[in-house]
Amino acid sequence: MSSDPKQELERKLKAYVGVETGPPTPAPEPVNESMIRHWCEAMGDENPAYIDAAAAAGTVHGGIVAPPTMLQGWTLMGIEMADPAKMRKNKQTELHELLSSYGYTSVVATNCDQTYVRYLRPGDRLTATTVIESISEEKATALGIGYFINTRDVYRDQDGAEVGSMLFRVLKFKPAQQPQAAPSATSGGAPAKPTRLKPPRGHDNAWWWDALATGALPIQRCKACGVLRHPPRPMCGACQSVAWDHVFAKGGGTVYSYTVLHHPKFPGYDYPLVCAVIELDEGTRIVSNVVGCAPADVTIGMRVALSVAPVDGGMTLPFFRPAGS
Ligand SMILES: [Zn+2]
Repeated sequence: MSSDPKQELERKLKAYVGVETGPPTPAPEPVNESMIRHWCEAMGDENPAYIDAAAAAGTVHGGIVAPPTMLQGWTLMGIEMADPAKMRKNKQTELHELLSSYGYTSVVATNCDQTYVRYLRPGDRLTATTVIESISEEKATALGIGYFINTRDVYRDQDGAEVGSMLFRVLKFKPAQQPQAAPSATSGGAPAKPTRLKPPRGHDNAWWWDALATGALPIQRCKACGVLRHPPRPMCGACQSVAWDHVFAKGGGTVYSYTVLHHPKFPGYDYPLVCAVIELDEGTRIVSNVVGCAPADVTIGMRVALSVAPVDGGMTLPFFRPAGS
């Protein structure tokens, strides 16, 4: 068994995936007109279907309904949320405490996707259940290194029928701005430099990364019409054929367009960073970095040469340098 704390943490994290965070949370009150009115006032929403009983009676709803986006509000805890001592403990708070104990002390919400099955009406009584759907591998972000946690809330009515659901994603992270913790006696050195964001690798592009790792830049080619394409994808945009093979770029290209990134600074990258669209001599384009010259010396139309190089010890990337440099 490894004693690497990150591996140890990730082993513990696995136990939370797919777990229901606790017993179903009943809404403290039924859906009601006063809360709907307060919400609409706060949001500046004057839709009569929400606030005007007489007008709402004449709509397809036949009476007042709640704005769908109030969904989560019906089952949220009240002011007790502000007091850690009163927070109900469940698998989700336990997971956050676990990550905090490994130094991932900060949290930020990053995504919220709600799905509505039907409009809610005054009198509906909701219950919410929450499942920890997935936990990412460790990611480098502009805020710091951390783990994305996806939870899914399912909302049901008094008859047990689903009325909506919500996918909520948070990043639980080590703040990048804070001074690094002093190296411990056992680690014996400075904290490791963070690695770059790992590119997504899947069924349609794994072959490309594998071919690139041999030191050459592959370009996907349609077997039916010969048109080149990048990034890799299953179907030819020109003739819709799904038959393909690939060629290797000879290495020449021109800067089609570029931008110089200064902020935000993602861990693992050196700034300023030149991100460029390179038009390969073969006739397709690729987004890459121009390296080996000052950002101010990059121009649109300049000739560049391919340089495939390893980064972070485990990943190979294509870069472009000024031709002849
Ligand atoms: Zn084609």
